[in-house]
Amino acid sequence: MAESCRVLLVEDDEDDFLITRDLLAAQSRMLFELDWSPDYEAGLVEIRRRLHDVYLIDYRLGRHTGLDLVREGFGSGPRAPVILLTGQGDYEIDLEATALGVTDYVVKQGLDSAGLERAIRYATSHSRALTDLARTQERYALATRAANDGIWDWDLLTGRIYLSHRWYAILGLEEPVDDAEPDNWFELVHPDDLLQLRAAIDSHLAGRTHHLEFECRMRHVDGSWLWVLCRGLAIRDADETPTRIAGSIADITQQHVAEERLRYDALHDALTGLPNRALLADRLDQILRRSIRDPAAGCAVMLIDLDRFKLVNDSFSHTTGDQLLVAIAARLNESLSPGDTIARLGGDEFTILLDGMTSGAQANAKAQELCDAFEQPFHIAGQRLFVRASIGVCLTRPDLTAGELLRNVDIAMYDSKQRGGGTHALFDQTMHQRVVSRMTHESELRKAVERSLIAVHYQPIVDLKSGRLTSLEALARWPEGWPSLSPSEFIPIAEESGLIVALGQHVLRTALEALTAWQELELAPPDLCVNVNISRVQLDDPALPEQILGALTDAGIAPERLRLEITESTLMHEPERISRIVADVCDQGVGLELDDFGTGYSSLVALLDFPFRALKIDRGFVNPSAEEDDVNQAIVRSTIALAQSLNLQVTAEGVETPAQLDTLRGLGCDCAQGHLLSPPVSELDVVALLGETWLRTPEHEPR
Ligand code: C2E
Ligand code: MG
Ligand code: MG
Repeated sequence: MAESCRVLLVEDDEDDFLITRDLLAAQSRMLFELDWSPDYEAGLVEIRRRLHDVYLIDYRLGRHTGLDLVREGFGSGPRAPVILLTGQGDYEIDLEATALGVTDYVVKQGLDSAGLERAIRYATSHSRALTDLARTQERYALATRAANDGIWDWDLLTGRIYLSHRWYAILGLEEPVDDAEPDNWFELVHPDDLLQLRAAIDSHLAGRTHHLEFECRMRHVDGSWLWVLCRGLAIRDADETPTRIAGSIADITQQHVAEERLRYDALHDALTGLPNRALLADRLDQILRRSIRDPAAGCAVMLIDLDRFKLVNDSFSHTTGDQLLVAIAARLNESLSPGDTIARLGGDEFTILLDGMTSGAQANAKAQELCDAFEQPFHIAGQRLFVRASIGVCLTRPDLTAGELLRNVDIAMYDSKQRGGGTHALFDQTMHQRVVSRMTHESELRKAVERSLIAVHYQPIVDLKSGRLTSLEALARWPEGWPSLSPSEFIPIAEESGLIVALGQHVLRTALEALTAWQELELAPPDLCVNVNISRVQLDDPALPEQILGALTDAGIAPERLRLEITESTLMHEPERISRIVADVCDQGVGLELDDFGTGYSSLVALLDFPFRALKIDRGFVNPSAEEDDVNQAIVRSTIALAQSLNLQVTAEGVETPAQLDTLRGLGCDCAQGHLLSPPVSELDVVALLGETWLRTPEHEPR
């Protein structure tokens, strides 16, 4: 079906109207609905109603011209296509018509039906295209305004660049009257980014990238640097030669700052602000890569683990613990040179890379220096806190990966921990084997503790005056049938892994239950006691007194029948805190004995701060090798004399020969324990010993 089109003809010559009407009717391509306004005024009224698709306006309209009518009727607003009809061609009129936005200019003479139809068709399609374009432009303008982007449009042929109002506004600039040159833009780009921006533009113009996308810094009028995302697309001619490149800039400073923050957070420890594990791994990787190229390059890696840091958190607060970590980080940092890296790997572990340090001696000296840095107390929240650290050291080797190095340094740290902490160790291969077997033992121990497979044996403690059994020391034993492991091997593992807490509880409860069972036998002395060893690590647990008293209640045993043994070395750490804990149980009647006396500081002054009832002389003095005999006898003698003056009982451990027993009795020693009397035996075997008279004759012949 033919397209229909409503046409207004403004024509003061009726003949011309008739001709036009006929011309339009004579063609069949379009269906024209023609309205006629015979003069200027009538035409103006119709035009203002805006009802028509096309306006045919005669140039001569009485006193007026058709152009006057266009001006007055349409103003500058959007208009439908207007075709000016004239008697003859006139270039001046044509120019004026173009300036007014008249779509076409047709000479009436010789105009035929097809020509008129064609003029109208072209005019409508041209006008539609213009309307569409205006709409698109309007939409684009709205979109860019909404997107808050600044627009740029660079004509590569003229070298001029259009920069939008918003483009300038982003940088705090006033929009100039004239178009700019690309340099006006580039002058504002950060010198460090400029070359790359230009390279990115060139690369896109050369067709190597699909579009331009580049982030760079640009100077704001206030002197600050903004981060700007610059995007663009080239327009190319038929030969693919770029003729124009246009795009936008967007202020992404906020986003950039947020991203920077995230990137920083991803690579740093939030508490101390030090590099974290990821950043450390990256730096170590760089050093290793360098050392592959240059075998002289390398570094020392140190792992610093604080000793018993958990205590700080438990005894004070996590806030204090955090503040202490920050203070430690700062102190460690002070000991380092600018090229070194210190990272916090989480918890109480710090790792240091000492770039360029490739000698073991140097690394050891540095590690000692770091250990020394812990000598001075840390002042946190009005408290003086003393912390020590165990330091593992290893040196990079081109054949080792970062992972292997970190594992080695961990092993070395572990080694220094095992040696009591507060010291450092340089990795060597034998450490590895030791650690592996220790790990194996630890997992076996865990299994044994979890399944309550740890057995308890009991060793008699005999009163040397009455010859009676006074107590039985409970001693933990590795599960029967397993490849044997002595307490001196598995107890340190239990202490270090924390398993000692459960193990200690198990031994305590088992011993108290055993005592209950023996008591029910007639042969057992009515005041028989049990001695139970308590580890330093158990004393870290503030719940210990409660657990001990709870176990006594559960077993129905009076507190006086339980004796706790703590070693001398335990007292050396934080005596005040330990005395508080033991006081809680001793106040209830539980006895306290100092174990292995003579192996620690033998500080008798320290003894006075604790409610000890007895001390046990270490078997190293009682049962010494022959050449040390005299000295040891002197020690034993003076220890007994001293204990007596302090009103303490003395038990000699490790009595193996009748001669030793004689000597001890002669010196006035109260009790003895040792293989001569009995080795540790099972609960069942204890039964056979209960009624025993241990020292039958004046010659104290042992059984
Ligand atoms: P300890 O508390 O000083 O226990 C005495 C140790 O001396 C025991 O070693 C015992 O078997 C050994 N002994 C006794 N008489 C003689 C002797 O005449 N000659 C020799 N050479 N040794 C003798 P054991 O059972 O190997 O235990 C070693 C250490 O392990 C204990 O020393 C104690 O410190 C610790 N331990 C054992 N069981 C436990 C436990 O349940 N908890 C804690 N915390 N430590 C325990
Ligand atoms: Mg003991
Ligand atoms: Mg002992």
